Amino acid sequence: MSRPHLINDHRYTTDYAGIDPAKALCQFEDCQKPKDQHIPIPDQFEWFDHCEVNLIESTFNDDSVCFAAWTSTKGDEADHGARKGLINRLMKDRHGTPFEHMFIQFQVTAPIFVWREHHRHRIGFSYNEESARYRTMRPRFYVPPRYRPMVQIDGTKAMDYVMVEADDETYDRFSKGLKLISQSNYHDYERALEIGVVREVARMCLPVNLMSTCVVSTNARALMNFLSLRVKDADAAYPSNPQWEINQVALEYERHFERLAPLTYAAFIANGRVAP
Ligand SMILES: Cc1cc2nc3c(=O)[nH]c(=O)nc-3n(C[C@H](O)[C@H](O)[C@H](O)COP(=O)(O)OP(=O)(O)OC[C@H]3O[C@@H](n4cnc5c(N)ncnc54)[C@H](O)[C@@H]3O)c2cc1C
Repeated sequence: MSRPHLINDHRYTTDYAGIDPAKALCQFEDCQKPKDQHIPIPDQFEWFDHCEVNLIESTFNDDSVCFAAWTSTKGDEADHGARKGLINRLMKDRHGTPFEHMFIQFQVTAPIFVWREHHRHRIGFSYNEESARYRTMRPRFYVPPRYRPMVQIDGTKAMDYVMVEADDETYDRFSKGLKLISQSNYHDYERALEIGVVREVARMCLPVNLMSTCVVSTNARALMNFLSLRVKDADAAYPSNPQWEINQVALEYERHFERLAPLTYAAFIANGRVAP
């Protein structure tokens, strides 16, 4: 079966460098004009080299753990030493329910491929994501920063491969290519909308490095499970090897966790990052 709309499709070549996205042909069969002849490539593209994590609100504090553990009898009166000991004991014994009373809410902007990983965390997490059915997605795309490791070291294992930074040429070729793909796909998305396709279908043109915003709410117990899996730490009792980008999101969560509930955070680290 012929696929005329893919003829001359530069996105499927292996060498991206040097191709002007505006000159690529429109992907729709009814339009074989170069893209810059009917819709200008938007110059409002936003290129993200990071995810954004904003704290919205929180009831994270060490007292609420003690209050829940001792119910209403001793919580308010406990001194710092007693609270530290109690929290550490709860963590060590994996008596996790008192940690469920600490609530935290973030607004997070991350690429779709990060959300695919994040949404796997089902228990104790609530999500609301911006709708690609009810609003037009903005041209915001992720391009990894220069220092993001992205080349596998020869000889490292398939499941535990080790990466290093790419050399300048490889990074430039990849990042330019990724921008080109993002611009080209976004153009196709706009074109689909223009010819009357609804947003929920037109979005099928968009790649997984599109940025999307979610509100994420969780509690300390669920967050610790997330951090145990999504932060790379060789000193953890069960070291995990998460994707670099979700690790960056997790580190931002962890920064807030440490600041808001230092005793609970310290007990989590001291007990090998094992979620109670
Ligand atoms: C490094 C890494 C690589 C991964 N690779 C892949 C992959 O290749 N493919 C893939 O599909 N996923 C992959 N995942 C996702 C992984 O399988 C989990 O879906 C994700 O980490 C969420 O963990 P969770 O189930 O503990 O979290 P949650 O869903 O938040 O669950 C929290 C806890 O609740 C309990 N729980 C939840 N649901 C159930 C249930 N149905 N029955 C019993 N107990 C339950 C468990 O104790 C669980 O740990 C990967 C994760 C990591 C960290």
